[in-house]
Amino acid sequence: MISTKYLLAAGLSLVLAGCHTQSNPNQETENTAQTTDPMIKERLDKYTTVKLNPSLDHLSDNQQKMVRLLVEAADHMNELFWYEAYGQQDSLMETVTDQEVQALININYGPWDRLDNHTPFIQGIGPKPAGANFYPADMTKEEFEQANLPDKTSLYTFIRRDAQGKLVTIPYHEMFAEQVKTVSNLLKQAATLSEDPDFAQYLNLRAEALLTDNYQPSDLAWMDMKNNAVDLVIGPIETYEDQLFGYKAAHEAYVLIKDQAWSERLAKYAQFLPELQRNLPVGAEYKKETPGSEADLNAYDVAYYAGDCNAGSKTIAINLPNDEEVQLKKGTRRLQLKNAMQAKYDEILVPLADILIDPEQRAFITFDAFFANTMFHEVAHGLGIKNTINQKGTVREALKEHASALEEGKADVLGLYMVTQLHKAGELEGDLKEYYTTFLASIFRSIRFGASSAHGAANMIRFNYFAEKGAFQRNQADGTYRVNYDKMQQAMNDLSREILTYQGQGDYEGVARLVEEKGLIRDELQQDLNRLAEQHIPVDVVFEQGLEELGLTAAGR
Ligand SMILES: [Zn+2]
Repeated sequence: MISTKYLLAAGLSLVLAGCHTQSNPNQETENTAQTTDPMIKERLDKYTTVKLNPSLDHLSDNQQKMVRLLVEAADHMNELFWYEAYGQQDSLMETVTDQEVQALININYGPWDRLDNHTPFIQGIGPKPAGANFYPADMTKEEFEQANLPDKTSLYTFIRRDAQGKLVTIPYHEMFAEQVKTVSNLLKQAATLSEDPDFAQYLNLRAEALLTDNYQPSDLAWMDMKNNAVDLVIGPIETYEDQLFGYKAAHEAYVLIKDQAWSERLAKYAQFLPELQRNLPVGAEYKKETPGSEADLNAYDVAYYAGDCNAGSKTIAINLPNDEEVQLKKGTRRLQLKNAMQAKYDEILVPLADILIDPEQRAFITFDAFFANTMFHEVAHGLGIKNTINQKGTVREALKEHASALEEGKADVLGLYMVTQLHKAGELEGDLKEYYTTFLASIFRSIRFGASSAHGAANMIRFNYFAEKGAFQRNQADGTYRVNYDKMQQAMNDLSREILTYQGQGDYEGVARLVEEKGLIRDELQQDLNRLAEQHIPVDVVFEQGLEELGLTAAGR
């Protein structure tokens, strides 16, 4: 069998051969066309550029200097993530001269399109290894499982081969010894400028964690911070990049400016969780667990994205830390990334609604509703149950590979349920029609990422379920969709009950059937989605970001 590594090397030399003939400009065009994918423009067209420039005016001189250091530290995560996702960035870039291809490589942190199931867009490049660059490309699952390496499943080790070809582990802090030292020093320097002592403490602990790969003390300190105006998420965090086992964490960073006014608005909703749990539209046996009411919910503007979270589609809400021991002790923090949401709302949701939502209902598409629906999705993960009611263990164990899709589907529909209940109680402003119409438009936005991911499958199930219940109808004349508000509320309650029941029963076969029957994009809908691409409605955003955008280039600012 030819290894992926071999295919990859072959691909690169092919492109290199193309580059040798560059001296002749006519040939260069020809060669570029031969060695790259003809769909480059189409792939790039899925993105639109947005400037990331939240105001820092309310921050003191010292705080602004601190942000500058944090952005510098965050920027190093790009280099680390590049290595994890692909390997040596330089060696790939040297082979490519076309600016559009370079731009696409930068967006994807490699030669595979993240919005198209990692399809390679440079000819001769093989498929992306499932384990990215965390494992040797020629390693099989069996070889890994048989290897006697105590820290092989660690979040923070690479698997490599020694001179004899035997598998060995290399801790992140050794593989990246030089880089983590630099970042650690930047964080320590930033800590001396912090006005909030808890944030300074967190930065110092995080600086240590990068040098040792022991992140728990800094995660605990992060949960203890409450009054910091600036925040930083940095380090190896999510494991999605490791599609082989999901063991290895990838590096990323967010530099965040807290939005005090919105955070206060959010704080009050958490206290309603226990009551909302009691009122869930399902039998009492499915809602016995008590959700924590001290959920930490805050809004931020992002000043800088780097690494994993900046690759392909951009995150607009996060829920951290992932360390379950920290979660048990301190809970989690849900971060709503407001300016990133605003960008997706302005650039994608509004133009999409102008094509797919009934003209009379377009006025009900609002940012506040988009923000609330996204926020309550995060909170709704805390509702319902984590354990089956019939001794099948946790819901996650019982539902196996379908657990994530159903959990995401639950959070979406129960998020809307929370909106409905809080609106009824007079706790949420605006017309309920805004939340429902924006909810439907958001389904169209999400399913453009495809039905294969957990979120994608969840959205398709809901779309098809809602369609069958008459929650909306398609106007045959112009291909727009019109919400039937009463029926949508009924469908929301019915689907909530079904999902909670599947989870409580740990009904693997039932869920598999649901995914098979409803988790797909039917022809008519696909044609409607194609209209969005034809009219160049972007799928996601790319950020123009950095010190200059933040007005932090002048020395001493
Ligand atoms: Zn979710």
